[in-house]
Amino acid sequence: MFCDACGRNSSFAVMNRTRTFNIKGMDIQVPYRTEICINCGEERYNDELEMSIMEKAITMYRDKQKMLPAEQIMGYMRRHEISAEEMAKRAGCAVGDILRAEKGRLVDVEADRKLKQVICA
Ligand SMILES: [Zn+2]
Repeated sequence: MFCDACGRNSSFAVMNRTRTFNIKGMDIQVPYRTEICINCGEERYNDELEMSIMEKAITMYRDKQKMLPAEQIMGYMRRHEISAEEMAKRAGCAVGDILRAEKGRLVDVEADRKLKQVICA
C-alpha cells in the first residue's frame, strides 16, 4: 500500500493507540486501532476512523458527566408531542442544544442540567 507520509509503497501493521482529547477542560483518552507504516511509523490517514474516534471521545465525555442519554430526551419529546423548539423553550436552552442532545452530541453540561430539570422532574 502507498504511504502518503513517506511517499513510498510500504507494509502496514495494525496497532493499538490512544489519543487524548480535551473537551471542555476534561482530558478524554480514546483507545483505537490503526494502521502504522512500517517504514516511517506514521498512521495511515483514515477519514472514517478519525470521525469515529471523535464520536467516541464525545460519548466518553458524556458518560463521565452522566449526561442525559439521547433516547431519554427523544422519548420525552415523543410522549409530550413537542418539537425541538418547544423543548428548548421549556428547558430554557438553545434549539441547537436540543438538536445536538437528540443526536447524543451535546457536551454543554449547563444545557444538560436544564434538560434534566424538565425531563427528570
Ligand atoms: Zn510511511
